Amino acid sequence: MYTLQAPIKELTSVGRSTAKLLQKLGIENVLDLISYFPFRYQDYSQVVKIKDLFPNLEVTVKGKIILIDTRRSFKKRMSITEALLDDGTGSIKVVWFNQPYLAKSLKIGDDVFIAGRVEFDKLGLQFVSPAYEKINGQEIINTAKIVPVYSLTGRLTQKQVRFLINMALKSVKLIPEWLPEQIIKNNSLTPLAEALKKIHFPEDFADLEKARYRLKFNELFLIQLQSHLLKKYLASARAPFLKFREKEIRQFVSNLPFELTNDQKKTAWQILLDLEKHQPMNRLLEGDVGSGKTAVASLAILDTVLNGYQAVLMAPTEILAKQHFKSLSNFFSGFNFKMALLTGSEQLLKSGAETQAKKNVSEDIEKGGINLIIGTHALIQDKVKYKNLGLVIIDEQHRFGVEQRKKIKEKNKSKETPHFLSMTATPIPRSLALILYGDLDLSIIKEMPKGRKKIITKLVEEKNRDKAYDFIREEIKKGRQVFVVCPLIDPSDKLGVKSVKEEFKKLEQDIFPEFKTGFLHGKLKSSEKEKTMAEFKANKIKILVSTSVIEVGIDMPNATIMMIEGAERFGLAQLHQFRGRVGRGEYQSYCFLFTKNGSAKTRERLNALVKSADGFALAEYDLKFRGPGEVYGRRQSGLPDLKIASLNDLDLINLAQKEAFNFLANCVLDNFPLLKAKLEENKIIGHLE
Ligand code: ADP
Ligand code: MG
Repeated sequence: MYTLQAPIKELTSVGRSTAKLLQKLGIENVLDLISYFPFRYQDYSQVVKIKDLFPNLEVTVKGKIILIDTRRSFKKRMSITEALLDDGTGSIKVVWFNQPYLAKSLKIGDDVFIAGRVEFDKLGLQFVSPAYEKINGQEIINTAKIVPVYSLTGRLTQKQVRFLINMALKSVKLIPEWLPEQIIKNNSLTPLAEALKKIHFPEDFADLEKARYRLKFNELFLIQLQSHLLKKYLASARAPFLKFREKEIRQFVSNLPFELTNDQKKTAWQILLDLEKHQPMNRLLEGDVGSGKTAVASLAILDTVLNGYQAVLMAPTEILAKQHFKSLSNFFSGFNFKMALLTGSEQLLKSGAETQAKKNVSEDIEKGGINLIIGTHALIQDKVKYKNLGLVIIDEQHRFGVEQRKKIKEKNKSKETPHFLSMTATPIPRSLALILYGDLDLSIIKEMPKGRKKIITKLVEEKNRDKAYDFIREEIKKGRQVFVVCPLIDPSDKLGVKSVKEEFKKLEQDIFPEFKTGFLHGKLKSSEKEKTMAEFKANKIKILVSTSVIEVGIDMPNATIMMIEGAERFGLAQLHQFRGRVGRGEYQSYCFLFTKNGSAKTRERLNALVKSADGFALAEYDLKFRGPGEVYGRRQSGLPDLKIASLNDLDLINLAQKEAFNFLANCVLDNFPLLKAKLEENKIIGHLE
């Protein structure tokens, strides 16, 4: 038996190249192997007699090899291994392609399990490339059971990974049960070690469900505990008292080029009241794309600066950071304070009306000579130090991670904890937000600024696709630009779903050879993404094909068409956000939805988008029919990063929340060293103390 920390290199049968591939999957040691959960299962648990087989059954057969031979087919350039399997009730043909080593490992007379789908052709029933496993006293893990299927990379095989995980599971007893006994008992949860075993190798589906339930609970309980602990911690931390500078702020508001909406005023007021407390603000500002969150943030920034403290605004990308720097420079043009832009590639200093490139901006920041610092997350990763942080704002994220808070605290030379504000365009209804973000106060902007042009949204029939392309061509000739969103990166043969690579090729070569087309997806390096985005922003690229990665909040006033392929595969909230990437300038904008799935239900759902421009209403509409996991998309930034649980497990989220609350109300964490260690390992506590 190995220790949990034993590096994979030391395991029997793991060579250097296998170790490399495992590392690519994030697997470094035995514990990582145990924690690498299957993404689906293959049910081979039915073991059937050969005489009872019929086409399309997915089963396991147990028998003896009575013939086996491999030949090369030069025409088809492959090797074919054929065997005959007999179990006393009958015999069946088995064929494998390109696995010549099979004839060496399987011999006449061997007893084996064969598992797969029974196929039928003119020669009768047969198995084509089935799973097989010799019956030789070794544990059976690839056939005759519910078999785990893992996501793999390179030349790794399911068999190999199953073997390793099965071996690693011998050490599962070493993993301590860290969940308090009372909670396990009250909810009849499966013990941890058993759940970990069964998530890989369940006896039956009921077993699997129990294992999943337990492991989901783990994840959700820790998240809820984190929320509660953060709340407790913030209640005891000390933040700077930032007096509401009413006169100057009123003046500033009246000088803005527009009148604030009522919701902007209301949310700004909630924030300004928070800043006047000694307890750090921990607030989430939610507002649809274009609802003017930056303007609200600017009031909080101004208040902070007027009180003599520094404010920081962090954006997820350099482009967004630059955009904020520009618009805030305009907002604050009448004020005499210093602003810096600090990204990996640029350092700018604005002082009065003048903006210039400046080396070593960070020295000025440390000395307190700069009032507002705008940049990417590098602002908390780099070596920058702050003199006296009063307010930290993070754009397009739902919350500050625990690690982020810790880093910020280390960087702030004054002893106080700054106020925190996160901003997001994801329309999460209050009810759901309360469950997910128990530690956060919520401010919601529902109202859009007056006079916005409505984006014309259309569900386009496949037969009208060419018309849509003609329309797009005319728009581009007028100088406009186009987004095309596809559900996948690579072509997928099974689904017929559009992919970025395919669509890019088609548009660039066949449909719009006269225009420059670019593409973006999550597998590109961030420097490549930024480059493409910059070219799009400069109107060099006219058509940008991408997955859902194009950042929210990007201001492209010149882009007027959002074309979405495979629209049925996205949640309404997500589609609405794609749509929000156009319609940001003076021109009439359009959103074209394409779908292959013509079902009435799908059309009705997409029609909701045609009719409504209200992100919250759309999210709530969708939530009635589909779980939040689908509504917001799998990997929406800022939503909790869940490995096994999903946002759809609302009952379980509620339960975890209740248990976390009860636990903290009735127990002392110090009396639960294993749970405490778990929280520390997840970096949830540690710095809080
Ligand atoms: P988001 O909430 O998506 O971050 P922004 O803050 O980027 O939105 O605002 C979008 C645009 O709307 C900006 O150009 C901003 O100047 C403008 N804007 C903000 N508030 C108002 C308002 N009350 N009336 C008119 N325009 C506004
Ligand atoms: Mg924004």
